[in-house]
Amino acid sequence: MIPYQSLHDAEISLGRNLTFAETLWFNYSATKSDYFLFCHNILFLFLIFSLVPLPLVFLEIKRLYPFDEYKIQPKVRLSLHEMLNCYKDVLKMFFLVVGPLQLISYPSIKMIGIRTGLPLPSGFEILSQLLVYFLVEDYTNYWIHRFLHNKWGYEKIHRVHHEYQAPIGFAAPYAHWAEILILGIPSFLGPAMVPGHMITFWLWIALRQVEAIDTHSGYDFPWNPTKYIPFYGGAEHHDYHHYVGGQSQSNFASVFTYCDYIYGTDKGFRYQKKILQKLKEDSTNGAAQNGRSYSEQENYKSE
Ligand SMILES: [Zn+2]
Ligand SMILES: [Zn+2]
Repeated sequence: MIPYQSLHDAEISLGRNLTFAETLWFNYSATKSDYFLFCHNILFLFLIFSLVPLPLVFLEIKRLYPFDEYKIQPKVRLSLHEMLNCYKDVLKMFFLVVGPLQLISYPSIKMIGIRTGLPLPSGFEILSQLLVYFLVEDYTNYWIHRFLHNKWGYEKIHRVHHEYQAPIGFAAPYAHWAEILILGIPSFLGPAMVPGHMITFWLWIALRQVEAIDTHSGYDFPWNPTKYIPFYGGAEHHDYHHYVGGQSQSNFASVFTYCDYIYGTDKGFRYQKKILQKLKEDSTNGAAQNGRSYSEQENYKSE
């Protein structure tokens, strides 16, 4: 809630005219409680879970050219029924775990100092905070995810997320309830270290979900704008992690590639890429018809 009675009061307090965005924010948020503003995240998450994967579902069913060329595991196809079942399972978890977790975590947001008032943060402030949040999330998630691949963690918790050996957009948040709770920590740590405005927090929660859907899309499109983000892992990087499955000691990071590089957990992935690249070159040259001696390559594409 903004502590000014009117736009005029706000301008006097700030000592300047409000920007267009600040006027919009004032008009929208002035009479709403901070708790209600925070709870907008539940609606945003629901909309993103439900809408962002839809084009991918369409592609999976229709197999449209040229998009279908970029399916990473082309031999694994899910029916509409199977994808909707995944959506229903995720939705169940959303209403039983994600929603209630959001509702009760408000005191922690208040404690770390997420603000809702004026002035609004600058574009630079928002972008730099989002960058910190992604870096903190990536690093923390890397180690938690790696821990979940020990025998106990995998069998008791993480196995559920790996039910999809070839991930789809709807399977991004598909996980055991305990994993959903545990992985709330990396998402919360960044804002706790560098608290910002509620709008930045909304953006963070929304972008993190979009990023998770992108990395679980099952398609590696060369025109994906994320290709311009340095060290961004994307679908190809995380798809390999699902492809290898429970024994996977590769590609634990959720966003970027550098943790796996630094800690040496991308060796299998890099080897696979090298082999596939060689096979591609050989088949282009028409020189190696018998090059596919690695049976596991049959179901996997390099690009
Ligand atoms: Zn895993
Ligand atoms: Zn995954």
